[in-house]
Amino acid sequence: MITFEQLGLDDRLVKATSELGYIHPTPIQEQAIPVLLSGTKDLIGLAQTGTGKTAAFSLPLLSILKEDKKYPQALIVCPTRELCLQIVKEIVGFKKFMKEINVVAVYGGASISLQIRDIKRGVQVIVATPGRLIDLIERKAVNLEKIQYVVLDEADEMLNMGFQDDIEFILNNTPIRESTWLFSATMPPAIRKVSKKYMDNPVEITVGKANTVNTNIDHQYYVTSAQHRYETLKRLIDFNPGIYGIIFTRTKADAQNIAEKLTREGYDIDALHGDLTQPQRDRVMKQFRDRSLQLLIATDVAARGIDVKEITHVINYELPDDVEVYTHRSGRTGRAGSTGICISIIHSRESYRLKQIQKIVQAPFNKMEIPSGKDVCRKQFFYFMDKLLKADVSHGDYESYVPMLEERFADISKEEVLKRVAALEFDRFLQYYENAGDLNVRQGENRADRRDRQMGRERSDHSDRGERGARNGKRDNRDFQGETARLFINIGTKDGFYKASFLQFILDMSDLRKEVLGRIDMKEMNSWVEIDKKAANQMIRSLDGKKFKGRKIRMNDADSGGRR
Ligand code: AMP
Repeated sequence: MITFEQLGLDDRLVKATSELGYIHPTPIQEQAIPVLLSGTKDLIGLAQTGTGKTAAFSLPLLSILKEDKKYPQALIVCPTRELCLQIVKEIVGFKKFMKEINVVAVYGGASISLQIRDIKRGVQVIVATPGRLIDLIERKAVNLEKIQYVVLDEADEMLNMGFQDDIEFILNNTPIRESTWLFSATMPPAIRKVSKKYMDNPVEITVGKANTVNTNIDHQYYVTSAQHRYETLKRLIDFNPGIYGIIFTRTKADAQNIAEKLTREGYDIDALHGDLTQPQRDRVMKQFRDRSLQLLIATDVAARGIDVKEITHVINYELPDDVEVYTHRSGRTGRAGSTGICISIIHSRESYRLKQIQKIVQAPFNKMEIPSGKDVCRKQFFYFMDKLLKADVSHGDYESYVPMLEERFADISKEEVLKRVAALEFDRFLQYYENAGDLNVRQGENRADRRDRQMGRERSDHSDRGERGARNGKRDNRDFQGETARLFINIGTKDGFYKASFLQFILDMSDLRKEVLGRIDMKEMNSWVEIDKKAANQMIRSLDGKKFKGRKIRMNDADSGGRR
């Protein structure tokens, strides 16, 4: 196996990597570092998050920068604040023995004047999110005239988030750029287009298969009826007592509702969504990293850039519409050589979508039985016994209590004591799962399942409702009986939206629930939204006239004067 020394890196970097505990380069590092050190101008690295790509571009960058020149020479652009901070943190670790190199993180939601001050101190490397960087360029607070190296990290994410124009703006504002290094987990046509336009004969390196997910991930799915989705989620969490995971929902409202319900039922969970202020978000993330939260529930947008080690499970509360979103979700687990499980809770009509995802991911998806109540209890029992056996008694002064304990329990057998300990721990579970039903939807019981679903209609949880209409690949999740309106909006796929993110955007803006929506038609420039007539005005009021990326949003009733 090759070592960092053999890659031709500066000795100080080799020393730093070894102090960080990196022993061997990961495949992307092994392939990219020599190429980048050899003076290759442009490079496309197709690699998932968690493969070590940050080091793959940061180490050669630090090797070739002019340390004595105190102006920005390298620009790393990435989609989110979290990723931005993560990259800076890694670079700070790598440059430990290169005191002359300065790096700054530039991202929205933090004081711009402090960032300007940091830039003025003479930095060679700027790590930035697109929006804030453009702000700085327009204020002439950052000088990109001498930038030689531009790295686009998680390029597909940036495009998904609607940063295409911003990226082009940035590339156009780096006039003497010599090298562009683009890293992406997937290679959608929009990225090809950017690379064709701005890169010169790039060397392409693929780690694993392009558009595939990490092979360390076990993909599992559970089939239930829409009304049992929440119950299934709970059961799967209970079946995995040591879980440390992220649950993904499509909308902010779902994330919030489920987090509230699970918290009420005693689970360590919190939600991450677009409504949180930065300090609230930081607090949730800190608790999750510290493991005082066992579970995080998040929307895709809110979870971007999160890099938390040792996530055991990613759970898709609902399947995402886009395969790429699935790849990004599942990529939160199985990082840096560890293994992880990506669970999808689906209902039988979603099998076709699962097949589509499976085809592109090119990894086996294992259909699993939703555990019975008994299974859950057994699993919890074993977990508890394990915990009991491994309990650390070396610290406290337990010995001094032993005589007292012996005296107190003198008349009770060991079996009795164990039973009582178990009862204390398990009463809640045993009671809850005593009469727990079978949540699996099995082949051949469609009619019963349908009846079951219909019966559950009144009872069904709001968060489950939107599922019922997804048919034939078209989104039609009408869950209201009354009149509908069709709204026009001047936002489309060219704004970087795909259906799921667009849906989330309009719901988040309007504070409506997805049950009010029907079919959504997206075109490049405009979209049409079917909506419960009663909710139409609220949606128009919330969106019409608001700004999106500096452009005024127009929304109106499509059938009364709207453009078609
Ligand atoms: P990335 O894909 O850059 O987000 O990296 C994923 C994680 O792997 C980060 O936490 C890195 O610190 C870690 N990592 C990167 N390269 C190596 C390596 N060669 N050996 C061990 N850990 C690494």
